[in-house]
Amino acid sequence: MQTKPGNVSRLLSQLNESATLAMARLSRELAQQGQPIVSLSLGEPDFNTPEFIKDAAKQALDDNITHYPPVNGILEVRQAIAKKFKRDNNLDYSPDQIVISTGAKQAIANTIYALVNPGDEVIMPSPFWVSYAEMVRLVGGVPVMLPASVEHDFKITADQLANAINEKTKLIIYSSPCNPTGSVYSRAELEAFAEVIQRKEELYVISDEIYEHINFGERTTSIASIGNMIERTITVNGVSKAFAMTGWRIGFIGAPKWIADACNKMQGQITSGANSIAQMATKAAMEADPEVIQPMIETFRKRRDLVFGLLSEIPGLKINKPEGAFYFFPDVSSYFGKRNGDTVIENATDLSMYLLKTEYVALVTGDAFGDPNCIRISYATSEDILQEALKRIARGLATLK
Ligand code: PMP
Ligand code: GLU
Repeated sequence: MQTKPGNVSRLLSQLNESATLAMARLSRELAQQGQPIVSLSLGEPDFNTPEFIKDAAKQALDDNITHYPPVNGILEVRQAIAKKFKRDNNLDYSPDQIVISTGAKQAIANTIYALVNPGDEVIMPSPFWVSYAEMVRLVGGVPVMLPASVEHDFKITADQLANAINEKTKLIIYSSPCNPTGSVYSRAELEAFAEVIQRKEELYVISDEIYEHINFGERTTSIASIGNMIERTITVNGVSKAFAMTGWRIGFIGAPKWIADACNKMQGQITSGANSIAQMATKAAMEADPEVIQPMIETFRKRRDLVFGLLSEIPGLKINKPEGAFYFFPDVSSYFGKRNGDTVIENATDLSMYLLKTEYVALVTGDAFGDPNCIRISYATSEDILQEALKRIARGLATLK
């Protein structure tokens, strides 16, 4: 029996659903109904978790590591993460500066809850990852988007940042490599940001480095490794992307101890420690030589090149060449105002729905990422599927006049 729905809280009614998850759900439902869906909607590697990581989880079960873990994470796992931060990012975090959470998503949410007061401004270069703005709004903070277009490789400048900072600014949040654009900030660009940020007291940075390893250019830089930025930076990372562990739900931060303590307190009231078995699997991932994931990264690079070539052949799209992550974010605005019969394409949401309904290819509207001129294509899938999807996109767009 269906009960009559009541009223959800005002807070929840103001919250937008995650557009990436919504599109993934819709495409799953259509596929279940028998529609020939090709989905490039979700940012999730198609690989399976490496065997050595699964073995560590099996061992953890056999060792009965099945009790409540400490809220901030099992000590030996935090120690392994501290070593990873030193090895890969030249960052000195002690284990008590690390908090392990249920995905990088929770790690980011904890931090925003821990730092942002109602009315505080949180700067995010736009396009930005879908959940940042919603998380900020949930605590009454004000997202301040700094636009960066495809012509500038979707990157903001230090001047833009300097002009946006005022006495209400509390936090800056960005991902590099970036979801949804694949852009990567160079060390020089981050040094310029650091110089601007260090001019203001009480200004913090969430550096979301979840795509650190999925990077085709120079090694990425952690902004916390520049000057005194470690005192103001919350470095976010996790295992979902590089180790193909999206379902294990482990992410973490390295942060100044007072911020780590605040996140620990927050998490202690909401979820407690993250899954103990998944934490032990994470330890194996952290201790492994990053070389073990190189074959996956090489595959992503080949796919990037394939999709870049295919997108370049489609008239009217503007694209950058992403240096990392596994997304393209084409500007599709030249199709706005075009039509097929009665269907008129006014914006990127219309276009993504049109491609879903006519060609059964699932993409995510750029609206959700702060850029209504673009659509996001996730290429974390096989070359055959990518060929088919790009053929459909080209065919669908060609029907618009
Ligand atoms: N940050 C970015 C930029 C992401 O794309 C994602 C998506 N997975 C996350 C954080 C959250 O990752 P997790 O799966 O570890 O929660
Ligand atoms: N972060 C991934 C994406 O952007 C997974 C979905 C989500 O967590 O929102 O598609």
